[in-house]
Amino acid sequence: MSSHTSVLLEEYTWPEVETALEEGTRTVVVAVGSVEQHGPHLPLIMDTLAGDELSRRIAKKLGDALVAPTIRPGCSGHHMDFPGTITIPAETLMDLIRSYCRSLDEHGFEHIVLVATHGGNFAPVNTVAPEIARTIDANVIALADLDELMSLQNEGLREAGVEYEEPVIHAGAVETAIVLATNESLVRTDELAVGHEKPISTSRLLSDGFRSITENGVLGDPRKGTPESGETILDTVATAYAERIEAERDAI
Ligand SMILES: [Zn+2]
Repeated sequence: MSSHTSVLLEEYTWPEVETALEEGTRTVVVAVGSVEQHGPHLPLIMDTLAGDELSRRIAKKLGDALVAPTIRPGCSGHHMDFPGTITIPAETLMDLIRSYCRSLDEHGFEHIVLVATHGGNFAPVNTVAPEIARTIDANVIALADLDELMSLQNEGLREAGVEYEEPVIHAGAVETAIVLATNESLVRTDELAVGHEKPISTSRLLSDGFRSITENGVLGDPRKGTPESGETILDTVATAYAERIEAERDAI
């Protein structure tokens, strides 16, 4: 395997990483996912799959970036009423992010991009990013604005012609579409069922837990998700994020 066929750091050998750094690879993307319930139709690994896919697309668009292994699990205490969810304390997640950044910095990456793909991880990522940036040479770019991510995802849904919008995104049309587009066999298509559809504050979801709001763990309507919209959602987010990274790198 030549180092040019993949953007996945974990598939490289150490000499290939060394060569990539010497030849101008300066950026590494780290998605921060979860292992948590996503309704009766999507696998626990949903946010990690989305993280893998997004970072791969971002790195390909940038053309000079690698993808570090997506961090899993994340902060999912608000999903613990559903079996299978694995949660870690915010401090543990932040420690892991610090260690990722220090390691990647030591090897010579100049820009470390943190991409949060699970709601509970946004606050820890936003807390730790500026702190770690002060202690390492590398520039740390945190893409962790939950409202921005959800509005880009809804935009991607509309772009594929789906007339539907999700106020808060969890296991509904958007996430079902993403898995249909990337790993269709993981969607239990005979288990698609609507969940809580009305607007709800994300802070209430975090404090009260999902089970008090949605019996099946779903927000929105998974039946509205299509493979085509999964593709436009991923492309819309990856394009916007790659542009942001380019702008932040240029500003250094
Ligand atoms: Zn999710």
